[in-house]
Amino acid sequence: MKSKQVGILAFHGDVSEHIETSKHAAKNLQLDIKVIPVRIKNIIRHLDALIIPGGESTTLFKLCQREGMWEDMGKVKNIFGTCAGAIMLSKSVIHKIPDQKTLELMDIEIDRNAYGRQINSFEKDIDTSLGRIHAVFIRAPKILSVGTDVKILAENEGEIIACEQKKGNSYYLASCFHPELTSTVFHEYFLKKIYQN
Ligand code: GLN
Repeated sequence: MKSKQVGILAFHGDVSEHIETSKHAAKNLQLDIKVIPVRIKNIIRHLDALIIPGGESTTLFKLCQREGMWEDMGKVKNIFGTCAGAIMLSKSVIHKIPDQKTLELMDIEIDRNAYGRQINSFEKDIDTSLGRIHAVFIRAPKILSVGTDVKILAENEGEIIACEQKKGNSYYLASCFHPELTSTVFHEYFLKKIYQN
């Protein structure tokens, strides 16, 4: 099977955790993927998939804008966004800063710092469609509503915290928490989707 190129947006946030977890997930599945840190525009069009790590969506927005990446990022076939990455994928953001842009690829409405400030961050075991995982919420957003094509993968106290959307040839996965810190399950799921898609 041909090796797939999986980019990790590598400006800031938990980049190295996503790189390691992606490599572990590929090893578990015996898939031969190439994990590529992405900081410049030219690489993007060669990617089969992109992971947008958590961090700070306003910073990610500014750096992607500075590097002129928007258009190419929007064309990547498979994208997985965690936390700030989920904000980047969403069509509509509550409490965004003036002029903050997102890729607007997933039909989700997301509230940026809905769980409160950094001090309100928490960890919790959660049942998801992919199994029970220990979920870490760091100044996490909440997904307030999703379009009819979006499948919910996990909820916390009735609130949506992970979902996916197949849109034409494209596939998008979003989580409000940080699966890369505690588990390979979400990365394995995403890698399988890349090979199916
Ligand atoms: N709430 C942050 C934002 O607006 C995201 C936090 C995170 O990625 N851990 O970008």
